[in-house]
Amino acid sequence: MKKTAFLCLAGAVLAAALAGCAGQAEDTGNRPDRVSPGGVKPKLGVAIYKFSDTFMIGVKSAIKSSAKGIADYELVDSKNSQPDQNGQVDGFIAKRVDAMLVNPVDRTAAGVIIDKAQAADIPVVFLNREPLEGDMQKWDKVYYVGAQAKESGTMSGQLLADYWKAHPEADKNGDGVLQYAMLKGEPGHQDAELRTTFSIQAIEDAGIKVEKLAEDTAKWDRVKGQEKMAAFLETYGDRIEAVLANNDDMALGAIKALKAAGYFKGDKYMPVVGVDATEPAVKALKDGTMLGTVLNDAANQGKAAVMLAAVLARGEAPTRDNVGFDITDGQYIWISYKKITKDNVDEAD
Ligand code: BGC
Ligand code: CA
Repeated sequence: MKKTAFLCLAGAVLAAALAGCAGQAEDTGNRPDRVSPGGVKPKLGVAIYKFSDTFMIGVKSAIKSSAKGIADYELVDSKNSQPDQNGQVDGFIAKRVDAMLVNPVDRTAAGVIIDKAQAADIPVVFLNREPLEGDMQKWDKVYYVGAQAKESGTMSGQLLADYWKAHPEADKNGDGVLQYAMLKGEPGHQDAELRTTFSIQAIEDAGIKVEKLAEDTAKWDRVKGQEKMAAFLETYGDRIEAVLANNDDMALGAIKALKAAGYFKGDKYMPVVGVDATEPAVKALKDGTMLGTVLNDAANQGKAAVMLAAVLARGEAPTRDNVGFDITDGQYIWISYKKITKDNVDEAD
């Protein structure tokens, strides 16, 4: 019998009280040896929309390391299913966790989660997928930790505008207009919508005329990014003068399709901009295939979320002093973005 299965069986008597045996938990911070001398650590229920998302892998590891010594937790994969996540939230409530940390599958489902949390009086911190303002106002023990989507859009547009101005040859057909292709994240996600809008806005604000040749969603996914880019190239070929992607995974997929079409050899080049500054993206910046990206600070987002949830779990009122991050408008912690190119890759972590 596997050790975990055995432990689960052995713990069956205590099952309701123990994390990790429900078949959905990947890990638990529940280590009796680390209970601080003063008392028992608070327990958090943490649900991530999809464990396989590259960016969320970084946030998840920050959550784990930040929770050490501060809180016990049960961490579950919602597998990109909102019904599954609702069930997981019900499970956390049944186990009487002290606070919940939820990365919603569908951000418009936050309202339902807030209703459940409020009825049970368990504070909830949302992460990375921003609930609608009306939902945030439902209850005062609801918080959001994330980054300002608009800021990342603006920064990615500026990266491309700077390149365009410094490289007149980038205007391949010489018409004075930047013909671009856009790879969008999941429609409805604040980062997909606002990055798409504000990247283009920033380019126009820099005084550059733009023409959208192609735009499609690749749902944050690398393989889909590659497929969509291959399709764009089939239709528009060399008429495309730049590629903007709402995240690095899609940008990396696009780069793969571009390589297959002969780009990045000799003087055949395409500026590609992403967002996140994940490890593979940093590699692509260094090897010159990715022009730029915007650091989406997974480490601080994970840390702030855990610190805040732990404070709430202890029944304290969150402040800059006990959380370590500024609280804006009483309910938000905003982590800044940063432009990253080959020249400052060291600042990506
Ligand atoms: C990131 C994406 C990620 C998404 C998940 C965004 O902030 O930039 O890479 O897939 O969050 O919700
Ligand atoms: Ca042009």
